[in-house]
Amino acid sequence: MHRRRLEDRYGRVATDLRVSLTDRCNLRCSYCMPAEGLDWLPDDSVLTDDEVVRLVRVGVELLGVEEVRFTGGEPLVRRGLVDIVRRTHALGVETSLTTNALGLARTATALAEAGLDRVNVSLDSIRPESFAAITRRDRLPDVLAGLAAARDAGLGPVKVNAVLMRGINDDQAPELLRWAIGEGYELRFIEQMPLDAQHGWSRDGMVTADEIFTALESEFVLKPADEPRGSAPAELFLVDGGPATVGVIASVTRPFCGDCDRVRLTADGQIRNCLFAREESDLRAALRGGASDEEIADRWVTAMAGKRAGHGIDDPTFLQPDRPMSAIGG
Ligand code: SAM
Ligand code: SF4
Repeated sequence: MHRRRLEDRYGRVATDLRVSLTDRCNLRCSYCMPAEGLDWLPDDSVLTDDEVVRLVRVGVELLGVEEVRFTGGEPLVRRGLVDIVRRTHALGVETSLTTNALGLARTATALAEAGLDRVNVSLDSIRPESFAAITRRDRLPDVLAGLAAARDAGLGPVKVNAVLMRGINDDQAPELLRWAIGEGYELRFIEQMPLDAQHGWSRDGMVTADEIFTALESEFVLKPADEPRGSAPAELFLVDGGPATVGVIASVTRPFCGDCDRVRLTADGQIRNCLFAREESDLRAALRGGASDEEIADRWVTAMAGKRAGHGIDDPTFLQPDRPMSAIGG
């Protein structure tokens, strides 16, 4: 029995921990970061493998965390990834990875053997030109090979996350779905959020969930899947009667903040109670200052209590967080 929970003042309890293992990345998706990259975190501010595992253990053993997803930046560029996964799996929680899949063809088997349960791969287009236009790198074949390796290693169901950008790939929703169904991947579209480092997001520029439905329904019959949505952000639909499904994550136009069960740990050891939080809580300082597990847990509980009711993107007073998505951990 856990003595404490990561509960906020609205009664939401966080059990899903997103751990960013690095803010670095080998792609430059335009909705995420500028072409020249960012000022990366200095090495000594990034948690060591032992520090990551200790904080995850505190979350699991003292605070009721049930599921751990590793992300970034690009988590596959973190050297200790397989070992971190192995040690997290040994804590008895579900583990998953959100990745751009570059290099996954080489590591999928090792990750599966270390106990990784699932992967989510981000892929916005299966056309080489559009892929290169969005990510600013000509690496589509590596991503496709990584996806196939994940499926073959049993890291399924393999989910594919796609962001549509107006004038670039917004005409490709049906094509992506047809491809994903053929390959046995579960496709989910994600509305673009104001989390890019360049602050270039605009509501008009964003392709909305309604537009995505319209595009998909030109070729497919979508019917809401029976599965209860719970805290899962994707609205799930059966495609042409099933069993294939497609998900739409309408973070902006249909926020699901009321059901949120997430908490985030950045690569430099900060707890963020929301993607859009404007405050962070410094667990790295506590850890390196000699705090006990109980003291770290106390600080974490306090950090959660202040979680706001919603992201407030529609409020006139909305302010984009200082950290971009790549440094928060998406
Ligand atoms: N590099 C890995 C990847 O791309 O999967 C993990 C980190 S990435 C920040 C996590 C997810 O955030 C990806 O699916 C990406 O498409 C998504 N993402 C990044 N910037 C976004 C934005 N502004 N709006 C919506 N999703 C975004
Ligand atoms: Fe890298 Fe992921 Fe951001 Fe793309 S979305 S630049 S792959 S961190």
